[in-house]
Amino acid sequence: MPRLWLKRGREKGIKEGYLWIHPSDVEKISPSAQDGAAVDVVDSKDRFLARALLNRRSPIVARIFSREKRPWGSDLVLSRLKRAIERRERWGISKEAFRVCYGESDGLPGLVVDKYAQVAVIQISHPALEPMKQEIARGLKEMLDLAAVYEKSDTPARAQEGLSASKGVLLGSLPREIRISEGDVHFLLDIEEGQKTGHYLDQRPNRMRVGAMANGKEVLDLFSYTGGFGLHCLANGAERVVFVDSSASALKIARVNVETLGAEGRAEFLEGNCFDILRQMERQGRTFDMVCLDPPAFAPSKSSLPNATKGYKELNLRALKILRKGGILVSCSCSSHLPVGLHLDIIVEASADARCQTVLLHQWGQGLDHPVLPGHPPSRYLKCHVLELAETI
Ligand code: SAH
Repeated sequence: MPRLWLKRGREKGIKEGYLWIHPSDVEKISPSAQDGAAVDVVDSKDRFLARALLNRRSPIVARIFSREKRPWGSDLVLSRLKRAIERRERWGISKEAFRVCYGESDGLPGLVVDKYAQVAVIQISHPALEPMKQEIARGLKEMLDLAAVYEKSDTPARAQEGLSASKGVLLGSLPREIRISEGDVHFLLDIEEGQKTGHYLDQRPNRMRVGAMANGKEVLDLFSYTGGFGLHCLANGAERVVFVDSSASALKIARVNVETLGAEGRAEFLEGNCFDILRQMERQGRTFDMVCLDPPAFAPSKSSLPNATKGYKELNLRALKILRKGGILVSCSCSSHLPVGLHLDIIVEASADARCQTVLLHQWGQGLDHPVLPGHPPSRYLKCHVLELAETI
């Protein structure tokens, strides 16, 4: 087996659970090692640490898939998928729609699988998985009793690995319409043209918990996509919800979802840039009892963190300014480079600039079907802070 030698001292993080090897960690790599194949990761004294998938073209040179000398191959992938499904059953996750596999967190770097009713959508972002697509699709069909498996490998992560986008049906045929439910809310999904795999499963528990707080409230759902938070608010008796998103096609589906709920009389849809719309609402003196902020990742890399911080701060500041006293701010960030503490710091700064006092009611993360590995911080990416705008003291 070809080897990857770490520089002296770089094994500490790996031993503590970190699963990525960056170029600066590497002393040397066996010349026979191939991108898209397995290597043994060893310390500077040649001691075996783990087995990983190599890709010299990526900023993550190797991704650990085993702490033992297990062979990489479709047998391992299928057994890990089976284990991923079993653990989600054990954790009580909805069988109708869930993230079946979340990359490293399920021991399968480069593989994401989401299940929506009878369809699984897979995203591959490592060359080591490319030759196994069909086997993965067949395995999933059997394990989950599916009508179709669709590949949606068009993520920026894929380009980073030197792979071109790949989209299309791998197995079976797509039903004319895909719908899933979350409690009393029904979502129509567009997996082919929608964002990510079609739906943001990671926010599901947060959407449901936020919905339960919305009775009688006037809610502003910013970055609403197909209606996520606002739909749950409407289902729980919100007086009115204003949905805002820059994507016309997402709002079109949001409208359908609101109609399915029979709540069109209580909903308003605004297509545009949330930053502009917040400014406009402030000028107009428009206020709300609840504002949800669920922007896309502003910090896709460490170097973009300073700019991202500015963006998050402006959003939180403007959201606080249009909140009524006693109102609720739901402030999310899905940037993995922004740790929980830093996200809360941004909210603290925004509160100070808005001259208001907030009370932190909840600090939530991603749903359990996106397992967090404490030793591998990038696995914990979603932050959802819920705050109440308090009386100033
Ligand atoms: N809250 C949603 C998910 C939001 S994803 C849910 O629970 O399903 C982020 C959304 O922000 C996407 O729909 C994207 O179209 C939208 N978006 C990105 N930048 C935007 C901007 N500047 N203004 C408005 N919407 C934006």
